Amino acid sequence: MKRRKFIQNTTLSAVGFAAIPTAFSLTQNKIIDMTNNFPITIATWNFPNASIKAGEMLANGATALDAVEQGVMIEEANLKNTTVGKGGAPDREGNVTLDACIMSPEGDAGAVVYLKNNTHAVSVARKVMEETPHVMLAGEGADQFAREMGFEKEDLLTESSEQSYKEWLKKKEYKPLINIENHDTIGMLCIDKNGDLAGACTSSGLSYKMNGRVGDSPIIGSGLFLDNEVGGAVATGMGEAIMKSVGSFLIVELMRQGKTPQEACETAIQRIIKANPNYQDFQAAFIAINKQGEVGSYCIQKGFSYVKYQEGKNENIPSEFFIELQKK
Ligand code: ASP
Repeated sequence: MKRRKFIQNTTLSAVGFAAIPTAFSLTQNKIIDMTNNFPITIATWNFPNASIKAGEMLANGATALDAVEQGVMIEEANLKNTTVGKGGAPDREGNVTLDACIMSPEGDAGAVVYLKNNTHAVSVARKVMEETPHVMLAGEGADQFAREMGFEKEDLLTESSEQSYKEWLKKKEYKPLINIENHDTIGMLCIDKNGDLAGACTSSGLSYKMNGRVGDSPIIGSGLFLDNEVGGAVATGMGEAIMKSVGSFLIVELMRQGKTPQEACETAIQRIIKANPNYQDFQAAFIAINKQGEVGSYCIQKGFSYVKYQEGKNENIPSEFFIELQKK
């Protein structure tokens, strides 16, 4: 039996305690109608085409799951974006390898890591979620699965990323720059008209990373986590620090305990700062949304922003931050 069916069958038997429609929120024992806040889309950095795509789809009645997938696909296909999808910067050996994950309102999840031959890693991740009994496929297995699912093999290295790679080879210096070049993963969270929440995160990872390196972006709980009863969070920045703090899961759990999305993002970044004495040398950022449609964002270094699309308006919002970039 396909996993989706299995989950549907099991949730049917639990329908008894899902009596509150998802567009309503039970806050302090009061049922609040949240329908006016929805739909809403938020996404890391300033990728307006992606958030507008998702926002318009939601306005036309699309599900949150379809909207997050097709929203982030815009950046995967954007050849100018050197940190997501085709045109992403390669690793030290010249391979472009993609990491992505997706989560549905049912709490189902799919992910691919080290995917080499397909632009739309998020769509392969969605197939993993919907067509297999697994959550994550890696490398050759992910590649084979993509072929089986009908995704044609593509070359992800563009002329311009090859050119930059050749330049990089001259010095082979590995220096993740704060905010730019190496960090531009797109993580997106959408709440649809029904009040249901889905999320996606997709990245080519750190530029000139070691061959085989996988970041936080495809890791459920690190790059992305959501619970349709509580809210969701996505991350961008130095994947190693984000993975070690399981930051997105932490944020959702803090929101469950009553923190606002803003407070929860700040706590998650504080944890990273505390655990990493060299925190001034890298960026880490989270955005989060709760089931009331409240949004929060926090990062280590000034310079990160996110987009919010609501009621036909797309806004780029500078994130709150811990420190201003130290000029060296
Ligand atoms: N988080 C990503 C990674 O470490 C990088 C990024 O956000 O750009 O792979």
